[in-house]
Amino acid sequence: MTNVLPPVRYRIRPHRPDAHLFAVDCIVADPDPAGQVFRLPAWIPGSYMIREFARNIVSLRASVGGAAVAFEKLDKHSWRVEPLAQGAVLTLSYEVYAWDLSVRAAHLDSTHGFFNGTSVFLAPDGRSTRPCLVDIQRPDGNEYRDWQVVTALPRARDAAGAAWIYGFGMYRAEDYDELIDHPVEMGRFALAQFEAGGVRHDIALTGRHDCDTERLAADLQRVCNWQIDLFGTPPPMDYYAFLTMVVGEGYGGLEHRASTALIASRNDLPWKGMQGLPDGYKAFLGLCSHEYFHTWNVKRIKPAAFTPYDLANENYTRLLWAFEGFTSYYDDLALVRSGVIALEDYLGLLGKTISNVLHTPGRMKQSVADSSFDAWIKYYRQDENSPNAIVSYYAKGALIALALDLELRAATGGRGALDDVMRLLWQRHGQTGVGVPEDGIFDAVAEVGTTYGSASLGRRLSRWLKNTVQGTDDLPLPRLLKTFGVDYRAEAAGKGPTLGIKLVAGAGEARIANVFEGGAAQAAGLSAGDVLVALDGLRISPGGLDASLSRHAVGDIVEIHAFRRDELMRFSVALAAQPADSISLKLVPRPGERAGRLRRGWLGG
Ligand code: ZN
Repeated sequence: MTNVLPPVRYRIRPHRPDAHLFAVDCIVADPDPAGQVFRLPAWIPGSYMIREFARNIVSLRASVGGAAVAFEKLDKHSWRVEPLAQGAVLTLSYEVYAWDLSVRAAHLDSTHGFFNGTSVFLAPDGRSTRPCLVDIQRPDGNEYRDWQVVTALPRARDAAGAAWIYGFGMYRAEDYDELIDHPVEMGRFALAQFEAGGVRHDIALTGRHDCDTERLAADLQRVCNWQIDLFGTPPPMDYYAFLTMVVGEGYGGLEHRASTALIASRNDLPWKGMQGLPDGYKAFLGLCSHEYFHTWNVKRIKPAAFTPYDLANENYTRLLWAFEGFTSYYDDLALVRSGVIALEDYLGLLGKTISNVLHTPGRMKQSVADSSFDAWIKYYRQDENSPNAIVSYYAKGALIALALDLELRAATGGRGALDDVMRLLWQRHGQTGVGVPEDGIFDAVAEVGTTYGSASLGRRLSRWLKNTVQGTDDLPLPRLLKTFGVDYRAEAAGKGPTLGIKLVAGAGEARIANVFEGGAAQAAGLSAGDVLVALDGLRISPGGLDASLSRHAVGDIVEIHAFRRDELMRFSVALAAQPADSISLKLVPRPGERAGRLRRGWLGG
């Protein structure tokens, strides 16, 4: 049977770039006779926080044949148009204020436009499975004549020219879910291209930059090819776009089924004549690798709770440690396995992740399963107490993936690995579209353990994983890494005793950002927001605090003056030892035959 129901049609135009307004029409050929309801999502998949995008909708009107019809607002993100005569074609017209320079919303000025469908496309109720047609229009005015469009949204069949010619005009989506999963960039962007797995990949760079695009394309091509090989060719998309907004200071990404929206610092991009591999560029490659891995892990292998998404409310799952944590493990791993970074670089990045987790007292209070569930109110809404109260399902999830990978490899003599778990999940869930149940990852681990080892290994690893994600124990990484010829060393981050605080970076004053649980400052009564002014009667400068502390011994009592609000207060602080939570990892030079073989299987090289 063919789909004879009319598609939902949209028109979007940067209407007044200087006022940051897109004009959008949504045209429904057969509106609900009881009164057509329209809604906008309250959140965007991949970013687990209620954002209430409808707050940016202004000047909404409904019309039939140009004549206005009545409508009412039902709640914060829904509208209902009055019942209409049969045959009436309903047009809903509205403006969207777009001045959020993030990967999550929409942004428009006279230099470029960017939008996610979740910010701009109202969904007519009862029509979410219909095909959508979108006319992306050029803004009026000569100054926009050279603007182009880049998006993974497919070109409509009746549009002029081939797909991906960077043109304004007609695009299509199979349904609303697809429509909002292809962000759109328009303006004057630089483009680089490469091919991976037989598929064209574009990198679009908006904003001023001096990027060596050839270098970037060559490095990303290796990373993408490695990931495609992991899951198997052909990749599950026929085009992919890295939509990158280049700014002075910024970092962020959001995954989509055939593209990613990124924000990057200009100085993190490679430049012509760059020597070595600067940390900023490594971080940018890691970000690209992370979002690309999501093409499989979360965009297609999805929690059952997300099939389909409930876009009006919080969508709860306890599995973000697998979808974000495992992705965070593979992002840097793909860099070393594809040969883009060296083994030493990889161990440096891994050491940082371990240190970050150990530096978070909240890891003793919250499991990664609970952190996933409460992402909506905790991980995404962090405050001064977050380090004491929560654990990152990204960072600890990545370490769980590491421990699981090493356990599997060690127990099966390198025959089985986390790669096999990912491939099994891909076959079971990614290729079928069947969501992963809340205990689905444990089952997949049991199956891989059984296939490559024994049934008892499968049971043991599955039980271990369950206990680990539901508990707060630290991971046995020193022991596991040793088996792979990697030396694990834990040291204090600096010399001398510590106050157990973190200062607000770049504040120009010694303002406390966080007071760590169980630390000296907390015991003395200092709080986040306090501004430290003097230590033993001498002025504290933000950059000089550590040097002053290093002249003291653990157990010394110092007097600290600090402002709380505008009141000067005095604190007597017993200085404590710095915890040995700074981890460095080194390759053991002659690891022995078994460790050497395991290490090569894990990291290559
Ligand atoms: Zn992610």
